[in-house]
Amino acid sequence: MIVATGKSILNGIAIGKIKIYKAPKVEISDELIKDEQVEAEVARYDAARDKAIEQQNALYEKALESAGEDSAEIFSVHAMMLEDDDLSDAVYEIIRRQKHCAEYAVKHAYDNQAKVFAEMDDPYFKARSADIYDIEQNVLNVLMGIDTDSMQGTEPSILVGEDFAPSETVRLDKSLLLGMITREGSSNSHTAILARSMNLPALIQCKEISDSWDGKMAILDGYNHCVYVDPTADLLESLGARQKEDERKRALLQELRGMSNTTIDGTTIKVYANIGGPSDLGAVQQNDAGGVGLFRSEFVYLNNRDYPTEEEQFNAYKLAVETLAPKMVIIRTCDIGADKKVDYMKLDPEENPALGYRAVRICLTRKDFFKTQLRALLRASAYGNLGVMFPMIISLREVNECKTIMEECRRELEAEGVKTGHVEIGIMVETPAAVLCADELAEAVDFFSIGTNDLTQYTCAIDRQNAKLEPFSDTHHPAVLRAIKMTIDAGHRHNTWVGICGELGADLSLTETFLRMGVDELSVNPKSVLPLRKQIRSIDLSKAPSEGTVVF
Ligand code: PEP
Ligand code: MG
Repeated sequence: MIVATGKSILNGIAIGKIKIYKAPKVEISDELIKDEQVEAEVARYDAARDKAIEQQNALYEKALESAGEDSAEIFSVHAMMLEDDDLSDAVYEIIRRQKHCAEYAVKHAYDNQAKVFAEMDDPYFKARSADIYDIEQNVLNVLMGIDTDSMQGTEPSILVGEDFAPSETVRLDKSLLLGMITREGSSNSHTAILARSMNLPALIQCKEISDSWDGKMAILDGYNHCVYVDPTADLLESLGARQKEDERKRALLQELRGMSNTTIDGTTIKVYANIGGPSDLGAVQQNDAGGVGLFRSEFVYLNNRDYPTEEEQFNAYKLAVETLAPKMVIIRTCDIGADKKVDYMKLDPEENPALGYRAVRICLTRKDFFKTQLRALLRASAYGNLGVMFPMIISLREVNECKTIMEECRRELEAEGVKTGHVEIGIMVETPAAVLCADELAEAVDFFSIGTNDLTQYTCAIDRQNAKLEPFSDTHHPAVLRAIKMTIDAGHRHNTWVGICGELGADLSLTETFLRMGVDELSVNPKSVLPLRKQIRSIDLSKAPSEGTVVF
């Protein structure tokens, strides 16, 4: 048995086989090929396309059996698209005339076709753009010998890798994930946040991971920050029992569904959930959250191969707002940048990405990009109770500019005869500048949502992505707690309600501290909603503060 240690980001146990995850290297050469290589590249393309058609047909059969004709149809559409002569002619043209390899030709010919579809007005054809990207990836995978099935395996496993970018994590098949182990990573990174929101036991900074673990049985023990590879039968039995006990406790928490988030002395606050997209709505409902306090809309962008269209975004936002109505859904405008990057935005590399071109800074300088999202949000607002908040705010000027652009979008939609509804406007308070200007900012918005992940990073000057700095990091740093208190007080001076949507909101050792500060809402990952409700219901604010509570 091997015991390797790391840092656990969720208490819990995962038992299963290990799958070593290797991200494919997708580098496409733009070097020219020789004349005598041209026909061989054409033949490589033909073979790869034929193989891709075969794969799509096989997926069709599989989906037909397991999910029915409606779900299977997309794969026959993909096969038909791959058979399209115009698409292949465009590939041959690039290989034969421009003298590029098959991969380069596929990338450019298929991308061009996808863009043509994306620009069409008809929503049906617009949506075909994503399909072209899908089949492009399929042909490229065949050409480059990437076997996607073998990256994650076909059975549920504990996935082990160097590190996972947020864009990779969102694309993983969740039904095949028991837990995650990485050599790198930091506990406040978005990958860690995603793992937590998926309720996955995960171990980061596990330096001893090894390719030789592939296929071996393992226990990821989140309580003890370690993984046992080839565990003994005794350990399998005892930790298996602990895992069952966890499940039993989770089931007990279900009894709190429908109950209020009220302390013994009668103080009630809102407990909302953080989500990454409509696929998390089931978890919001199962865990009986009072609404969504943070919909990280950038995951809609990370999930896409190209800019999501207004229609695609509208559908995602409408689904969330409509499903949960009349509960409130707060959607944060796109917080791309720093660790959350997508190729299609072509953002320049930066010396200090966390202090760089991200979030509202991108939105305010790429107005058309921002307007696409704001129009989609305003259209969705007609279907329920929507809040919109802007991330990384440092000044009143930024808030006013965001609001002006939003009003411009509303006027345009009204002129087009499109219905919109009321929207509560808020900002993320996640920079020291926002805390120090909280009085002015509070006058301009309906609510504040404190992003403690970034607020900690910027207050303590500790890069949240840098695992080496964890020994210096103190999530309960007095400066951060004081900043939270200052924000709540400033908000209340101006009738602006104040919530916390960073990871600290789910830290039960701080619940009483936040309640005594007067917080109005805590938004946490869906699985933390019921444990937090239980904690709130055990607190009595009329008594002396319990041990560990920080009182200002
Ligand atoms: C935060 O910074 O606390 C926050 C909620 O936003 P994110 O973690 O997505 O940066
Ligand atoms: Mg943030």
